[in-house]
Amino acid sequence: MEMVSLYDLSFEGLRARLVGDGLKAAHATALWRTLYRDLESDPQQREDLPPPLRRWLSEGWGKTLGLSVASVKERVESSDGMTRKLLLDLSDRQEIETVLMGYPGRFTACLSSQAGCAMGCVFCATGQMGFVRHLSAGEIVAQVVQAQRLLRAEGGALRNLVMMGMGEPLHNYDAVMQALETVCHKPGISLAPSRVSVSTVGLVPAMVRFVEEKRPYALAVSLHAATDAERSALLPVNQRWPLAELMEACRYYSERLGRRMFFAWTLIAGRNDTKEHAECLAGLLGGMDAHVNLIRLNATAGFGGGASGEAAADAFRKRLQGAGIPCTIRQFRGIDVAAGCGQLRAARRGGGGGGS
Ligand code: SAH
Ligand code: SF4
Repeated sequence: MEMVSLYDLSFEGLRARLVGDGLKAAHATALWRTLYRDLESDPQQREDLPPPLRRWLSEGWGKTLGLSVASVKERVESSDGMTRKLLLDLSDRQEIETVLMGYPGRFTACLSSQAGCAMGCVFCATGQMGFVRHLSAGEIVAQVVQAQRLLRAEGGALRNLVMMGMGEPLHNYDAVMQALETVCHKPGISLAPSRVSVSTVGLVPAMVRFVEEKRPYALAVSLHAATDAERSALLPVNQRWPLAELMEACRYYSERLGRRMFFAWTLIAGRNDTKEHAECLAGLLGGMDAHVNLIRLNATAGFGGGASGEAAADAFRKRLQGAGIPCTIRQFRGIDVAAGCGQLRAARRGGGGGGS
């Protein structure tokens, strides 16, 4: 029998497995609490668990049961002390990144959904790496467990989650949704679904599925350009699902779920940060309940573009706001720890990691 990581099982999956092996449904709740409320790394050693459950654990441990190991290989802190980046080692030696940002009491973890990414956005260090593989639900859950352990040791706790690390979360839909259900499940890590945000480059069929399944998480679309020619040059995925289809899916999300649509716009000097670009974007979003997050490009070795200057970013923000579109400039946190998407791993491999 194959080895199963407990982090790969949904609550229902765990319960079905236990009941199938002759245990009680209540044992699932006891084990879940141990794994996710206590963040126990060696549950078979726990003497407070009911004896049949302990027996089940010790008989299978290391043979058919385990925990997906995502060990912390490297931990880098930014000089402002507000961003920490974890480089995690997976069982097949793949490396992924998890970033922790924030202040005590309101920490946000930025999770990876894949090793590498198939979408090939030209300015992105992960895109420049290419696709390696999907992460399992358990490997995504393990990132949250590691982050929560670290924060708990300091007396803190995780409050927000964003799927904005390496990879395109909607390309790995099932694993991402299962992982998010696990970390929101009570009693456990018990995050509020409204504090979880999924960022996509714009995979239209998966966005429609997200709406139809009424997923309780916020959705953010990485837009970066407001004409097909400009967007396709930055984000090859736009050739498959051009702006008209993407915007229709965004309107569907916002109208059907009654939620505000978030857009990300990475500001690249001269490429998408002029007065004309701001006007074009305002025209595209007119009439939609939308909010735009502006992020100045974090330069990567594989892309010739540079970050917009502060004055250009500010002028862009004011133009959008003047056109009635809510808009915020976000800091690309922890640039000095190469916290841009995929940049720590790229830097360690001598690849596309700039910004450090
Ligand atoms: N694949 C998803 C989520 C991960 S990327 C997506 O693309 O939305 C998270 C965000 O970082 C995206 O908005 C992406 O466009 C942006 N990003 C990637 N590389 C960047 C860079 N070098 N500088 C600034 N933003 C970047
Ligand atoms: Fe993938 Fe997002 Fe990077 Fe594009 S920006 S290559 S979708 S991780």
